[in-house]
Amino acid sequence: MFNDEDPVAAEKSLVSAATLYIVSTPIGNLADITYRAVAVLKQVDLIAAEDTRTSRVLLDYYGISTTVVSYHDFNEDRAAPDLIRRLKQGLSIALITDAGTPGISDPAFYLIRAALQENLAVCAVPGPTALIPALLLSGLPCERFSFEGFLPVKKGRQKRLQQLQAEPRTMVFYESPHRLRRTLADLYQTCGDRPAAIARELTKKFEQVLRGRLSRLIEEAAGLPLKGEFVIIVEGQSRRVEKAAQKTVDEYEH
Ligand code: SAM
Repeated sequence: MFNDEDPVAAEKSLVSAATLYIVSTPIGNLADITYRAVAVLKQVDLIAAEDTRTSRVLLDYYGISTTVVSYHDFNEDRAAPDLIRRLKQGLSIALITDAGTPGISDPAFYLIRAALQENLAVCAVPGPTALIPALLLSGLPCERFSFEGFLPVKKGRQKRLQQLQAEPRTMVFYESPHRLRRTLADLYQTCGDRPAAIARELTKKFEQVLRGRLSRLIEEAAGLPLKGEFVIIVEGQSRRVEKAAQKTVDEYEH
């Protein structure tokens, strides 16, 4: 199951030239980083970070002194070609974002795609992401789920919500604090009063998970501080239909 190399002894040879490393970093708790991630970040020639100031806290904590350059969606046209050029010159580059796994609802996707299109080596160094702990802590079925990321803010929002009405799997949404209430209300309007959960500030000091039907969560969200980071989890359609059918059978039989 595991590669039997000693990860510490192997540390010196963890990085190859001309390779883009997609490195997952903590979503709040600085201790949530893998040994391999730290080693790769120390060994690469360059780190491309979404926000160099945010990443500096993590890099300083682990004594990582690798040169850091900025890569975010506003400069993707400029930064991606430059990073691709450096990879082609033989540099090893680690890509990190503000939190979690690069490419999951953040700008890293563009660079990954550009590197693959150029047939460059791309290597994932897996680790934290917000959607998995949120799903687990929701208590909703997690054997199959649909990660929806951020709902469109304006154009296409209603259409997406309507498409999701019949989604049979548990759905996971990312949301910003100031849109949390609106999104809960829209989900209630389109999906009905389903079991759901809100996971807030995961792995941080004020981690909080609220569970209940959407109507109750809407009430509870009214009292939540509009800051921090949120994931919304909503039960899929078929479970409700199955449960309702089962309830009818139970009522009929008793
Ligand atoms: N790449 C990240 C990942 O792997 O999860 C996600 C980046 S996305 C720009 C940021 C969103 O992730 C936030 O708006 C929130 O929905 C979610 N998120 C990130 N960290 C979180 C945390 N500690 N607790 C709850 N949600 C979090």
